[in-house]
Amino acid sequence: MTLTNASAALKKYFGYDQFRPLQADIIQNVYNGRDTLVLMPTGGGKSVCFQIPAITLDGVAVVVSPLIALMKDQVEGLSANGIPAAFINSSMNADQQRNVETALLAGYIKLLYVSPEKLVSQSFQPLLKRLKISLFAIDEAHCISSWGHDFRPEYTQLKFLKSQFPGIPLIALTATADKLTRKDIVAQLGLSDPAIFIASFDRPNISLTVRPGQKRFEQIVEFLKEHPNQSGIIYCLSRKGCEGLADKLNAKGFRAAHYHAEVPAALRSKAQEDFINDRTPIICATIAFGMGIDKSNVRFVAHYNMPRNLEGYYQEIGRAGRDGLPSDALLFFSYADLLSYREMFEQGDASAEQKDLKLAKLERMYQFAEAPVCRRKTVLNYFGEPYDKSCGNCDVCKNPPQHFDGTLAAQKALSAILRTNQRVGMSLLTDILRGSQRREILEHNYHEIKTYGAGKEYGYDDWLFLLSQMLHVGLIEIAYDDHNCLRVTDEGKKILFEGKKIALAMPQPKPKPGEKTALPRVTEKSKTQMLREELLQRLTALRRELAVTQGIPPYTLFSDLTLQQMADARPLSDTEMLEIAGVSERKLQLYGDAFMGEIRRFVIEKTQAGERIIGSSNFISFDLFNRGHSVEDIAEIRGVSPMTVMGHLATMYERGELIDLSQWVSPEECDIIQGALTLFEEPFQLKQIHEHFNERFNFDKIRFAIADFRRKNK
Ligand code: ADP
Ligand code: ZN
Repeated sequence: MTLTNASAALKKYFGYDQFRPLQADIIQNVYNGRDTLVLMPTGGGKSVCFQIPAITLDGVAVVVSPLIALMKDQVEGLSANGIPAAFINSSMNADQQRNVETALLAGYIKLLYVSPEKLVSQSFQPLLKRLKISLFAIDEAHCISSWGHDFRPEYTQLKFLKSQFPGIPLIALTATADKLTRKDIVAQLGLSDPAIFIASFDRPNISLTVRPGQKRFEQIVEFLKEHPNQSGIIYCLSRKGCEGLADKLNAKGFRAAHYHAEVPAALRSKAQEDFINDRTPIICATIAFGMGIDKSNVRFVAHYNMPRNLEGYYQEIGRAGRDGLPSDALLFFSYADLLSYREMFEQGDASAEQKDLKLAKLERMYQFAEAPVCRRKTVLNYFGEPYDKSCGNCDVCKNPPQHFDGTLAAQKALSAILRTNQRVGMSLLTDILRGSQRREILEHNYHEIKTYGAGKEYGYDDWLFLLSQMLHVGLIEIAYDDHNCLRVTDEGKKILFEGKKIALAMPQPKPKPGEKTALPRVTEKSKTQMLREELLQRLTALRRELAVTQGIPPYTLFSDLTLQQMADARPLSDTEMLEIAGVSERKLQLYGDAFMGEIRRFVIEKTQAGERIIGSSNFISFDLFNRGHSVEDIAEIRGVSPMTVMGHLATMYERGELIDLSQWVSPEECDIIQGALTLFEEPFQLKQIHEHFNERFNFDKIRFAIADFRRKNK
């Protein structure tokens, strides 16, 4: 099997012209029969890496997948593209399972999805032995590692695959990149000298924004207003948090549902289904939500509370923008979030070693949130991927901090800490500096110290921002074992007593209410943009309608990206339709006419209403022609010359439309003209050819002979 076969299958079954980075190498590797480990971020395109070999190689590929819901989605997605696939898991009755077995043994199935417990069960072995297996694919392979976050004990028994089927290539795939997990996968599966492919974990289409978690609700409302009718997930820490937020959002007129582990299973899957099928755009969820959802048009992921580590953060935001379109990740963080995790970890019954690891990761998460450094740079470096530029698509890059001489501010804070005998935490210190009348301050007579009210020039949040920087650069530290009181370090004392200077990032001025903080918004849309959007809306509505009748999620019918490309290119023939990324042959058969019909109606309606739809001129003439108007008529209706109309028709013919040419040029004449075309070069000049034949053929004959020539040579 060669990569040419692979590319052809990619076009035919998925409608894509090119492999993404690494996909082709990985597929070649599987063709070579070598074991393979693939690390690719969510949305990177892992599935194609085993689906294309499965389709092109003889036999059936056995795919291990941990989640029943995911299996079902994948099988439906494959079937929709005309790829024979099936699953076997515990959700099926004996009859259903027998049907699949029959199809398998008859060689009808190219991909078989099984749960790990099924695959390792004794009852499954006889069937497995009788199949002609092309490859094994282990999806979500990190589940094998007890270091990972989704450990599944059954995965550890998968070692038998390599011992029982040594000659069959195995490909393990995961979006979890850390080294420990990687080593574990190779060892536990018993892979011999596997090829390891690590894709970049960058997701450049996701814009990263981090904000202090004050007035979160107001902030999230503003954020949601910037995402009208779009799907997104808001992660909350607790189940109460999810419910409360969903209620408040609904009260504000948004459509939101909640999801967490304690919602009864039936309601939980309803919430999930409604989200997937674009019925409920917003879902407020704990981290229980998301695994096993491969909805490609999630436009935003917000963290109402800070995640417990960067692995979690990155995995969760990775659920946005799988279709590659611009998407937003918004993170709120606060010192209080940090403290609640701390408490949670302390109380948990993990070993001291594991606790330390968790705390260290939590610390990194918090540092990421408050350091004024390019977000993407920070997070990719954390995952061991060197990234030294600034990304341009995060809050820091868009609004780079200004540095100033922070010595005086630092001195005020340090002095206040010492004067309160290092008995205060961050929040109380801030109140002291700001001269608040808070009860604790009066009780302890902190209002009598010299630095009380000395920092009124900064707001509360500004002080938190400055103090956290002081923490990072080591001027102060937090006594976690002593009520989180602040301590001045030796470095800090140098600032206070030895005249050492310090530069700090300036707190950003707060946006005034109503002022937009996000990207500058396009205020005025051009006519063309408005028409495009209207068409896009109509195509989106059509997609939903069709998806409902088929009982499938809308994004599996066509992705948002595919619809956008349709709205841009307005394909009106099969050939043009197949040029749109994501339109496979099967989908063209199933839905092509419906979508082209909608585009046609749109173009005609708009033209009749006097709008000029650029690039549609050919089509309008063709449409009138099909409705029985003569070329002269059309020329008159449209106010152009008959020659121009003939040009339109020739172009439509060239693009693959059905037109009877013989009314203008006979097959014999066509042959003669085309025979001479080799003497000339594109773009052909009608006049030259006309003269070449001593004016024997009129321009229309030549025009259509050329159109036919081009159509055949496309
Ligand atoms: P993963 O399993 O890594 O999360 P998927 O396999 O679901 O990612 O792929 C993510 C999206 O990218 C899907 O919509 C998929 O159809 C699309 N995709 C995959 N490969 C290509 C490609 N070569 N060209 C264009 N789109 C692709
Ligand atoms: Zn950046």
